[in-house]
Amino acid sequence: MTYETQPRASHFIDGKYVEDSAGAEIEVIYPATGERIATLHAATPAIIEQAIAAARRAQPAWAAMTGSERGRILRRAADLMRERNHDLSVLETRDTGKPYQETSVADATSGADAMEYFGGLAASLTGEHIQLGENWVYTRREPLGLCVGIGAWNYPTQIACWKAAPALACGNAMIFKPSETTPLCALKVAEILHEAGLPAGLCNVVQGMGEVGHALVTDPRVDKVSLTGSVPTGRKVYAAAAEGIKHVTMELGGKSPLIVFEDADIDNAVSGAILGNFYSSGQVCSNGTRVFVHRDIKEAFLERLCARLDKAVIGDPLDEATSFGPMVSQRQLEIALSYVEKGAGEGARLAYGGARLEREGFYMQPTVFADVTDDMVIAREEIFGPVMAVLDFEDEDEVMARANDTEFGLAAGVFTRDLARAHRVAARFEAGTCYINTYNDAPVEAPFGGMKNSGVGRENSKAAIEHYSQLKSVFVRMDDVEAPF
Ligand code: NAD
Repeated sequence: MTYETQPRASHFIDGKYVEDSAGAEIEVIYPATGERIATLHAATPAIIEQAIAAARRAQPAWAAMTGSERGRILRRAADLMRERNHDLSVLETRDTGKPYQETSVADATSGADAMEYFGGLAASLTGEHIQLGENWVYTRREPLGLCVGIGAWNYPTQIACWKAAPALACGNAMIFKPSETTPLCALKVAEILHEAGLPAGLCNVVQGMGEVGHALVTDPRVDKVSLTGSVPTGRKVYAAAAEGIKHVTMELGGKSPLIVFEDADIDNAVSGAILGNFYSSGQVCSNGTRVFVHRDIKEAFLERLCARLDKAVIGDPLDEATSFGPMVSQRQLEIALSYVEKGAGEGARLAYGGARLEREGFYMQPTVFADVTDDMVIAREEIFGPVMAVLDFEDEDEVMARANDTEFGLAAGVFTRDLARAHRVAARFEAGTCYINTYNDAPVEAPFGGMKNSGVGRENSKAAIEHYSQLKSVFVRMDDVEAPF
């Protein structure tokens, strides 16, 4: 292997790796075995200060470059990420436990997509000219300044890229704090960006728990905060950012509905439900974990689903044949298993799985509950594990009301062959990302984000530009100025 896979220190600041062993230890655990693969240190106040100072120092010159110049660097980073996809995917698998079969097509690759897309867009960012008779106004699209990104643990490379790429394209500097559970991959993203020509100080990565995130969010020199995390963390971070009237993007949790009508292609619907519940061992924010299946086809759906789950290859995530890996941590495994107990206790029928696997690492079976009702805890709370709840329904109005009866609004899906119904249902969903006869696609070209408690703002697509830049209006008068006295 010609490329050094593991990052060389805890933090990446001002274009280089930095260590400060005075910070609290962060153990990085390989979820497939439970073994420690790295020990990092949380950022001390001195490290946070270094990162903020470097970012503020570097940002004005970056903003003064042309969009084409900035974009070229991002596109070069995309190429490097694609060239190194194998090593980056292995690192992502070691960080998260997700199977290489997934990481090799969904993580560094989608990060590279973001670098390429926003790199391409950078040169096209403009203001507009508004003629007012002889006078006019023009708008300038300006960067926000210093953006802080805070990541969840499930997609460490992708989340870092989804935040850094639009921020940098718009002329901002970025400080990214990965989740303390999966801290390794973002360091490689920063390293690659600098190798691609990004000037020092523009993409910094600092490690730590919530306190480090809080210190960044509350620093007056920070202009914007983009968080990917749970709703409770979102409330805290949003409130702290509000104190300083900072811009925010909140990508939070969900408990999304997936509706399967009686005329659906059942095999496709089963595939959608599998993608929407068991990819990444169920640790995906947009998962359709409340699967409403029409009463007429419920048993056929369950039968085919269980037959398909028998084909899951559970094992070593670095083995390319493995299609279902461990949970990210002992803690997350325990949370998911506690919901299995709750579901059984509430009277749901365990149709598949439900048990921890007898092997090292944090493995549990893909799990399906049938006969779930709306009031059960497993139908209301985000589990963030491989636990699907199947609920019955009879008619469209009834299922729409039930699907929308949640604090969350991240995603929603519908399987039906009736196109008019499909679009009507999509229009009625209270969710930011909706799927018709598919589930969980997230291409960089399309906006991604939540309604209701699932979030504020959008990532990806041109929409993200609005959240990483601001407009300045400049009024220009050609004739005399009239004043009252
Ligand atoms: P989490 O909310 O526990 O932590 C998220 C991040 O916030 C971590 O980096 C953590 O250190 C940091 N943090 C915690 N408290 C903080 C504070 N007070 N101030 C600043 N930062 C703080 O989430 P998690 O367990 O890492 O991830 C799972 C959650 O993320 C799920 O709810 C999932 O749905 C959500 N998620 C959402 C999306 C999306 O795009 N909408 C994507 C992935 C995950």
